[in-house]
Amino acid sequence: MEGINSIRDIAVEGKRVFVRVDFNVPLDPNGHVADNTRIVAALPTIRYLLEHGAKVVLASHLGRPKGQRNPKYSLRPVAEALATLLNQPVLFLEDCIGSEVEDSISEMAENSVVLLENLRFHAEEEANDENFSKALAKLADVYVNDAFGTAHRAHASTAGMVPYVSEKAVGFLIEKELEFLEGKVNHPERPFCVVLGGAKVSDKIGVIESVLDKADRVLIGGAMAYTFALAQGRSVGNSRVEPDYIELAKSLLEKAKAKNVDLQLPIDTVVTNKVDFDGRTLGELKIAEGVIEDGWEGVDIGPKTAEKYADFIRNSKTVLWNGPVGIFEIEASAQGSYKIAHAMAACEGTTIVGGGDCVKAIHQSGCADEITFLSTGGGASLQLLEGKPLPGLEALKTRTSL
Ligand code: AMP
Repeated sequence: MEGINSIRDIAVEGKRVFVRVDFNVPLDPNGHVADNTRIVAALPTIRYLLEHGAKVVLASHLGRPKGQRNPKYSLRPVAEALATLLNQPVLFLEDCIGSEVEDSISEMAENSVVLLENLRFHAEEEANDENFSKALAKLADVYVNDAFGTAHRAHASTAGMVPYVSEKAVGFLIEKELEFLEGKVNHPERPFCVVLGGAKVSDKIGVIESVLDKADRVLIGGAMAYTFALAQGRSVGNSRVEPDYIELAKSLLEKAKAKNVDLQLPIDTVVTNKVDFDGRTLGELKIAEGVIEDGWEGVDIGPKTAEKYADFIRNSKTVLWNGPVGIFEIEASAQGSYKIAHAMAACEGTTIVGGGDCVKAIHQSGCADEITFLSTGGGASLQLLEGKPLPGLEALKTRTSL
């Protein structure tokens, strides 16, 4: 959090505090909030601001209305759900900019909350338009970002408006993301073990390169393992591979060696002769050790690999997992990911799950409560793990680091 304020650093009493939250929640067919996890996650920041006398102005996007006002994507149902959770009224405003919105906010009492209508009803939000940014900034004495999932996007509400507000900070949700994805990952207690899976090597190059500078051990799974296997001259049958990345995989293997990082590849693989992803079924299943025959494709790490990886995980002081190690959406090929999840749950060190599909896999495994930290961002957590700047966080820096 170098150069970034926490909300604890700012006196908010009596001030209009604009909080960019992530209320992009699923709605049911009757237009009610179907899952309030994201609203609940924002409560600590909102409650803190209310307890400290702020006038809280909440703003979010919901869905993809593509710059058009569309009642299907209205945040009104979220205002109702939030009011119930906070046990106090939440005033819903029909727009997010303009004189009527400004007037309503200027009349706010301390300790009160308004929720603005969907930011993405204006195309200018995603276009990071300067005038729109200024119109949003007019609503704020203090700017707070607590929407980690969009922190990697330079939109008006995440980046554009920030320079026009004098005081700025991150909320508790982002603070926690930074504590784990930056703090614990960059200064890990050792041994530090990283589990990397997912569909493509190409998506994870930045993360692999970055963790080779930090980890003691990297355990590879998922489809990306087959591109590494090709790089080692092994046959992988019909498994999903990226032939254009074989050379890169070779260089990553060499880099790991040069940096003394123990990079492990699967020693066995669950293979099938048919994947019906939509029907959630697989054909015949068998375990391949070494070679995967033509006509068969890898769908999960094998039991020996799972056991070996689980041992490494249990004996680490810090574990970071990004990307499922098999097609976890199908129960028969989710077992490797479940084994990783259970080993992380059993590990006494700090365990971190880096967002996206992996978080779904952890929930499916029933181990979510035993993990130290589950990231809420997919793209944002990848970008942070790659060590790349996030526009939403850069905008908040009040001083440059030395
Ligand atoms: P990512 O978004 O890169 O973390 O990738 C997640 C996706 O990788 C999931 O949809 C998994 O089904 C997929 N995946 C993991 N292992 C495999 C595999 N062996 N073959 C095909 N897809 C896989």
